[in-house]
Amino acid sequence: MERILVLPGDGIGPEVTREARRVLEAAAGRHDLKLEYEEAAIGGASIDACGTPLADAVVEQARACRALLLGAVGGPKWDAMPVDTRPEKGLLRIRKELGLFANLRPATVFPALAGASSLRPELVEGIDLLVVRELTGGIYFGEPRGRALVSGRREARNTMVYDEREVARIARVAFEAAAGRRRHLTHVHKANVLEVSQLWIEVVEEVARDFPDVELHHQLVDSAAMLLVRDPRRFDVLVTGNLFGDILSDEAAMITGSLGMLPSASLGEGGIGLYEPVHGSAPDIAGQDAANPLATILSVAMLLEHSLGASAAAADVRAAVSAVLGAGHRTADLAGAGEIAIGCTAMGDHVLAALAAG
Ligand code: NAD
Repeated sequence: MERILVLPGDGIGPEVTREARRVLEAAAGRHDLKLEYEEAAIGGASIDACGTPLADAVVEQARACRALLLGAVGGPKWDAMPVDTRPEKGLLRIRKELGLFANLRPATVFPALAGASSLRPELVEGIDLLVVRELTGGIYFGEPRGRALVSGRREARNTMVYDEREVARIARVAFEAAAGRRRHLTHVHKANVLEVSQLWIEVVEEVARDFPDVELHHQLVDSAAMLLVRDPRRFDVLVTGNLFGDILSDEAAMITGSLGMLPSASLGEGGIGLYEPVHGSAPDIAGQDAANPLATILSVAMLLEHSLGASAAAADVRAAVSAVLGAGHRTADLAGAGEIAIGCTAMGDHVLAALAAG
């Protein structure tokens, strides 16, 4: 029996996680996976309930689970609070406490939505790439950092630092992901100017010896950024450090066109993972049954694949989403002129029906 902790959070979080959980229950049932569900508060909901964005007891509960399914946190109600006690702190803390060092962000274009991208449909049709970003090291965390007044001038510094263990473990996650896909890995770097990138190249090459079936390619970050908009279909899996990954994962996501469609996974050692949509809590549409639950439903597909090793169940969920879109069902964020928008619950119902029919 695997334990799943659902953290609905704020805004549309409870609405989208409700639909995603229904889909997870159905997919698990079809594939004979035994799951046990728990639910806890995070973010603003937790501040309201117990005065902190993440209670210690929830951290302990999370540690005992196989996977976490999260909605989103934050909203205007808590915006005036000091930065250290705001809802987002709950999310940062859970990532840190669970040691989630690998962030996986797929960018997939469903055929029915190719027109939603800002790129021409013939460039985006068939995009299916995955950005694997190192999440707990690099320039966002390196020491020394800070500001000073030097010779009367304001100066600021940050330090990009990685050790070989940090690089090897993220490289392994990326190779494993590539081995289960089209077996092509692009390592994105800036080795012409950064010693850190030179170390990455060395270590990535060492890990590559364990994955002879995966074709490895090193690409400078500036040209990778260009190629992502010029020829995104050339990529399968990309792996890179925290800073480059932060930027490239947003770039890759946006070429697919819709925030309501983007799932993500953050993985730690031992298979534990946190799965959540890329979007926020969308307070402007919260409580109206208007949110698109597909990003969270696709996060469930990632959960099945990465934390439960259930690739067939994950494929079923993705196929169900694709079928629903192919049949023309759209939430308001996806609906074009003249298309009828359905609600969050109705979209969940359609995915469940497609799963059952699948
Ligand atoms: P947002 O992603 O919540 O919303 C941006 C726009 O996209 C809004 O118009 C919203 O209605 C729409 N949108 C987002 N998700 C949608 C969905 N599933 N279906 C339909 N429409 C959707 O970003 P924001 O407005 O900048 O932030 C709102 C709150 O969310 C803030 O408090 C912010 O801090 C928080 N936030 C949380 C996370 C997270 O929990 N991971 C991420 C980003 C923002």
